[in-house]
Parts: sequence; C-alpha cells; structure tokens
Amino acid sequence: MSCPDHIVDYMHDYLDEEISEREEQELRKHLHSCSDCEQHFRELKKAIAFVQNTSHIKAPDGFTASVMAKLPKEKKKLEMSR
Ligand SMILES: [Zn+2]
Repeated sequence: MSCPDHIVDYMHDYLDEEISEREEQELRKHLHSCSDCEQHFRELKKAIAFVQNTSHIKAPDGFTASVMAKLPKEKKKLEMSR
C-alpha cells in the first residue's frame, strides 16, 4: 500500500478540525489499510491530547480561585452603591 502525500496533510487538517467530510473519509479509509499511517496518526493525537491536558491542568488553581474571590466583592460593591 502506497501512502499519498496528502494523507499526512489530512491528519493535520483533521486535528485542526479543518477537514472536509470527503477528505476525512479518504483519510479513514487509508488509515484502515495502512498501519504505518494509523500509528503516525495515533502518535499525533497522543501528542495533542498531552498538550491539551497540560494546558488544562495549568488553568484551575490560581485562575478560578481569583475569579471566585472577585465575584462576591463585585456583587457587594453593586449592592452598596444602590
Ligand atoms: Zn499510509
């Protein structure tokens, strides 16, 4: 099974969610018949999931706490100014 050059482009388009339905079908069809590309695609997805997970972990601690701390104060100020 030969690998068309655009299959790798399709993988990136798919992960960017910028792939058309027709291209996605072609990509899936190739991944089913080509274990090399399937593994490459899996590695890509893993790398992206890792980036998303680490950026997700960074946010909560300080960020939500400071947002929550600000909310009641803002509310009190509004009530007092009435
Ligand atoms: Zn392939």
